[in-house]
Amino acid sequence: MSDCRQRHPHLRQTDPDLFALIEKQTEAESTTLKMIASENYASFSVLEASGSILTNKYCEGYPAARYYEGNEVVDQIEQLAIDRAKKLFGAEHANVQPYSGSPANQAVYRAVLRPGDKVMGMPVPEGGHLTHGWKVNFSGRDYLQVPYGPDPETGLLDFAKIRKIAREERPKMIWVGATAYPRKLEYEKFAEIAAEIDAYLVADIAHINGLIVAGVHPDPVPHCDMVSSTIHKMLRGPRAGFILSKEEDRYQEKYHSSSKFNLAKRVDRAVFPGLQGGPHMNTIAAMATCFKEADTDEFRRYGAQVAANAKHLAESLMARGIQLAGGGTDTHLLILDFRTAEFTGKDVAEALARAGIIGNFNMVPGDHRKPFVTSGVRLGTPALTSMGMKEPEMEKVAGWIDEVCRNMGNLDEVTPGVRAEIAEFCGQFAIPGIRDRAPATR
Ligand SMILES: *Cc1c(COP(=O)(O)O)cnc(C)c1O
Repeated sequence: MSDCRQRHPHLRQTDPDLFALIEKQTEAESTTLKMIASENYASFSVLEASGSILTNKYCEGYPAARYYEGNEVVDQIEQLAIDRAKKLFGAEHANVQPYSGSPANQAVYRAVLRPGDKVMGMPVPEGGHLTHGWKVNFSGRDYLQVPYGPDPETGLLDFAKIRKIAREERPKMIWVGATAYPRKLEYEKFAEIAAEIDAYLVADIAHINGLIVAGVHPDPVPHCDMVSSTIHKMLRGPRAGFILSKEEDRYQEKYHSSSKFNLAKRVDRAVFPGLQGGPHMNTIAAMATCFKEADTDEFRRYGAQVAANAKHLAESLMARGIQLAGGGTDTHLLILDFRTAEFTGKDVAEALARAGIIGNFNMVPGDHRKPFVTSGVRLGTPALTSMGMKEPEMEKVAGWIDEVCRNMGNLDEVTPGVRAEIAEFCGQFAIPGIRDRAPATR
């Protein structure tokens, strides 16, 4: 399986144009440093399940309660995914049908809120996700966002401020989760605030689920009514989302006294038939095997190494004079802060990409530049860690990043050399879903 000559043998024959494009993308993802914090490398097993004949099955409904016949087998597959998700996260209830993270979040709203309700979340420029109430998203159009975010000076969340906003605005739900916050999220403190104002507390762990599984980030499950997630980011699953929840709704009397359904049931009904039709059984099968892969000591070591690598990279960059939002990282991601530089986040992200370091430009707390320019660059370690990289490799990566940043006026000369070094360097590693061994050691 590790040989590219065996990849997609049918597609190669029937659609050489598409085959060539996929090969090109494979080449790009094996010769550059994949440092987009939300990306990773799914395993061969996950890819096989995703590409299996389960793609053919229609099975609207839930295990043992379907609207189609012939679902004896897929019932077992979905139940396997549900049971493994519950076990992995210690959750009372799991729904594995959301097509992706954004639909999962849509279902979270529909399970407990009515249009027009107030929701506390971080705006996109402050590190939140579109679905946490941002104005151009359904969540900002159908619900009223009460914004909170990191302090512009420190880049850290300030709980005195968050509590004050919550008490004044009394949102019905609080989102805790981010796409670009490098520090720990203290769910326990959010839970205290939510309880004071009778708000639902929801964690969105799309980015950091692997750290939670590894036990190197606080666990939201005991503190939150619902936990939503993607599975294709740090967990290395197929592209999909899932929702964990408590069985009972602690505010049933207060907000849902007329409903005969508990919270778990309302989550399920929000996903199907509320928002979606037939579940993607090929994806759910891939989720099942991803949950199995994640429930191992090997994965827990991986998650811990992701955080250790990010910390080491952060320290190496700061030692070289590069500033980081929030003063460093506790997670898998760092945000390089170029607020005081002449060049922008976009300039640096493009320069790094030319050198073979693929990240994205990103707003930093207190940013004075526009969202399509920004002063920040977001980088993450999940994919590099999946290749087997550790602290010594992070040292090298820091050196390359620094070299590009110090030569922003001189990119034509510097980037081709760095890019060649990185391509050679990547060749020393196995890559999940692409090759089992480094080509050099074959
Ligand atoms: C990625 C992400 C999502 C949405 O996931 P999609 O699968 O892209 O829809 C939701 N919330 C957070 C915090 C994310 O990082």
